[in-house]
Amino acid sequence: MATHSLFSANSLHTKPSSGTHIKVQEKWLGFTALDRKPTHLKLSNGCRARAALNADPRSIEIPRQWYNLIADLPVKPPPPLHPKTFEPVKPEDLSPLFPDELIKQEASNERFIDIPDEVRDVYRLWRPSPLIRAKRLEKLLDTPARIYYKYEGVSPAGSHKPNTAVPQAWYNAQQGIKKVVTETGAGQWGSALAFACSLFGLECEVWQVRASYDQKPYRRLMMQTWGAKVHPSPSNLTEAGRKILQMDPSSPGSLGIAISEAVEIAAMNADTKYCLGSVLNHVLHHQTVIGEECLKQMEAIGETPDFIIGCTGGGSNFAGLSFPFIREKLKGKMNPVIRAVEPAACPSLTKGVYTYDYGDTAGMTPLMKMHTLGHDFIPDPIHAGGLRYHGMAPLISHVYELGYMEAIAIPQTECFKGAIQFARSEGLIPAPEPTHAIAATIREALNCRETGEAKVILTAMCGHGHFDLPAYDNYLQGKLVDLSFEEEKIRASLARVPKVGG
Ligand SMILES: *Cc1c(COP(=O)(O)O)cnc(C)c1O
Repeated sequence: MATHSLFSANSLHTKPSSGTHIKVQEKWLGFTALDRKPTHLKLSNGCRARAALNADPRSIEIPRQWYNLIADLPVKPPPPLHPKTFEPVKPEDLSPLFPDELIKQEASNERFIDIPDEVRDVYRLWRPSPLIRAKRLEKLLDTPARIYYKYEGVSPAGSHKPNTAVPQAWYNAQQGIKKVVTETGAGQWGSALAFACSLFGLECEVWQVRASYDQKPYRRLMMQTWGAKVHPSPSNLTEAGRKILQMDPSSPGSLGIAISEAVEIAAMNADTKYCLGSVLNHVLHHQTVIGEECLKQMEAIGETPDFIIGCTGGGSNFAGLSFPFIREKLKGKMNPVIRAVEPAACPSLTKGVYTYDYGDTAGMTPLMKMHTLGHDFIPDPIHAGGLRYHGMAPLISHVYELGYMEAIAIPQTECFKGAIQFARSEGLIPAPEPTHAIAATIREALNCRETGEAKVILTAMCGHGHFDLPAYDNYLQGKLVDLSFEEEKIRASLARVPKVGG
């Protein structure tokens, strides 16, 4: 993107010749940052219409490479271990589950990984995603802070997850795989993968956490619309599922159980592989398209973030936004505070322990060194905010240990209060997950009101909440309450974490 041309777009104030301060309207910078002026079409009814600004592929700057933060870390993260031998996992251990290229990316120390042209071509459907200045929220909060959010809800599935679903499906299709299986909670990941599979002629089967399967039909219907088969988990189709159902026939399920079921099916079928929507290194790498675009978008408007705030479940949207900025921080180019926000009901970074644990409930996945609440921890069902995974991405856990980022936990009523303020000022209705990032952003903006400092806050609005409105209903009716932190439950699940090494 030629920087000068950004400022010729209609929606932006032109750069003053003194060159000191650049003002930007609250436009979708992704779509205004074009390399030529918008054209105007004359329609047959005599009206003039603005041509679709992102129609010309030359005008769109989508990254050509994913970024791998591991290359720039002074200490490499500890390796995953085989669940039986406790030896470091070898690539061939993973080949029943993943295609070769993704196994290579998982263990890669290369700084950049080329994005295949076919994947970039699909990204073009919604990328670059907009970076938006939240001017009306700033006004509502009466803060001198400048708040920006990178909005990933413009993807077909409505979240950041297609950024990794598309390459995962593509690499599997390239290797001649017929079917992929996965788990999903509320259905964000399952719908992203179902969408991606529909593009490349792959079959897709999804184990959806029972509670969501029953209570949240719309993302299940999206998956089915895109051609995926959806099973409630625990199911009778797997050993792992049958075991849980024997103990509790009305089990509401959990992400950890659903992962065990999908992994079991992939491990047993040669033409079937498994896909994971977060946590793993290759997923985090794929999501860096968010941060790479954002770096350029901020540079183009002459802004540098003082705070980068994102919500963390498994950590992929947070890593996607923040890792390219951590690279710049390590180079000494900027020094933002980088803050992960997790739910008080599932606080893996702030209350978990940093140790080797399984990725799933049945203990079938490799052991990963991560901040974990214990692999059989299940957050209370009254927690509405998503982000329910028991562990944090090993790479984020490692970066946290190195001290390059910080973490806080926020209770859900504060999150939804912030989401309502956001919806009523900015218009967009956030998914329950990014309400955590919004609440933390509001805290920081109010802090700026106290101190009078005009800090620049950048946050990830990683999905819209159009299919999560029952949670808003509960909040609006005053039925949403904060959980007291379940210390006892966490202590019990931590006691079942495997003992590895000394
Ligand atoms: C899945 C999801 C999350 C949590 O996953 P991360 O890997 O932590 O990003 C957060 N927000 C949305 C909208 C999601 O769909």
